[in-house]
Amino acid sequence: MAPLQHKFQLDESEMPTRWYNIVPDLPAPPPPPLHPVTHQPVGPDDLAPLFPMDLILQEVSTERYIDIPEAVQDIYRMWRPSPLYRAHRLEKALGTPARIYYKYEGVSPAGSHKPNTAVPQAYYNQLAGIRKLTTETGAGQWGTALAFACSLFDMECEIWQVGGSYDAKPGRRTVIETFGGTVHRSPSRLTSAGRAFPEDHTGSLGIAISEAVEVAAQHEDTKYALGSVLNHVLLHQTIIGEEALLQLAKAGESDVDVVIGCTGGGSNFGGLAFPFIREKLAGRMNPVIRAVEPASCPSLTRGEYRYDYGDTAGFTPLMKMHTLGHDFVPDPIHAGGLRYHGMAPLISHVYELGLMEAIAVEQTECFAAAIRFARTEGIVPAPEPTHALAATMREALACRESGEEKVTVTALCGHGLLDLAAYEAYLKGAMVDSGLSDTDLESALAAVPSVAG
Ligand SMILES: *Cc1c(COP(=O)(O)O)cnc(C)c1O
Repeated sequence: MAPLQHKFQLDESEMPTRWYNIVPDLPAPPPPPLHPVTHQPVGPDDLAPLFPMDLILQEVSTERYIDIPEAVQDIYRMWRPSPLYRAHRLEKALGTPARIYYKYEGVSPAGSHKPNTAVPQAYYNQLAGIRKLTTETGAGQWGTALAFACSLFDMECEIWQVGGSYDAKPGRRTVIETFGGTVHRSPSRLTSAGRAFPEDHTGSLGIAISEAVEVAAQHEDTKYALGSVLNHVLLHQTIIGEEALLQLAKAGESDVDVVIGCTGGGSNFGGLAFPFIREKLAGRMNPVIRAVEPASCPSLTRGEYRYDYGDTAGFTPLMKMHTLGHDFVPDPIHAGGLRYHGMAPLISHVYELGLMEAIAVEQTECFAAAIRFARTEGIVPAPEPTHALAATMREALACRESGEEKVTVTALCGHGLLDLAAYEAYLKGAMVDSGLSDTDLESALAAVPSVAG
């Protein structure tokens, strides 16, 4: 018998050299962002105080492919192409005829997919003469990635970390500081957006974004970087799906049945899924595309599709997205990276077009899946992709019943070696689910004012 192949690798020379923009392939264009005050569609100039023009042009681009600059490719090759694994041992443990593949992004310097966009964002800012980037971070992954990227381009990086996460994860802060970044607990006393909340507030991504945007808007040489949600971020992440398609071909899989990813703001999911949706729209394969979100922050499955702000203070443009309301503060679940009130406008649009589906899963199911994964595949997943793993295992167990040999592909978008408090809570039996019954969630949402437009 031929030995089982576990890893499907690409040579560095086989790394894709273009990002894929799904916009021109969609049957309808996505609704434009609106100015937060005038409610008119924003133009490039409106975004210029926050982002360099190269990124703004990518944000509104209708080109199908955008070349990855040589300097960015060179840095990508420090860890890319990332491996695609076949989860043979997990399959065996589940007794499933399904073939489970996972694309592992935990091999990056920050331990997640976030450097795929942090590096080009730092690159384009440095080209534009910017000296410092500000940002928010929830779980800490994005702050780590941006601090890493800024260190390579000799730029400063100032980060507002969601208070609850700042308190619970001192290890993250140390990694960010090792890369040369500065970290503030959010809400901080440094901004008016932060001072609107008591200093001991546990914070939210929405508040931390307001703080970082406020500081960037006040300084000529400082711009803001966002780690998810925006079109250019999803664009940069498509290298994940492009590599996965090449690796699946090497594995002899010309057809895929299910593509599964976790969604916080939507970037690792979009990065994996968009190239597969291109194949689907072109009739080359017909996978089900499934987003998985936490039951306590169910923007796609329970949110309204309407214009809303990206931050709590209402500084950002209004974006049409599935939203729980810009001042919705989700339960402090362990998957900090999934606690965002809205979904990427591009994912929201693709969802409305019926090109994908979404489910919400409770965190104990996710961690049960993570433990099973760790004990078979040997990787401790970040809390966020445990959602994708739980959904993958549901699919694999359904295949055990039906006997179908479905090919599933998921993004294992980060490792969890800095998230051990979550594992400790689960292993001690101290982890609780959102417990949000439908009526509780209804009243939590009713308390959130909506925005006109
Ligand atoms: C940031 C993060 C997420 C959530 O962001 P997306 O934009 O939805 O990908 C998920 N997983 C990990 C490991 C992250 O760092």
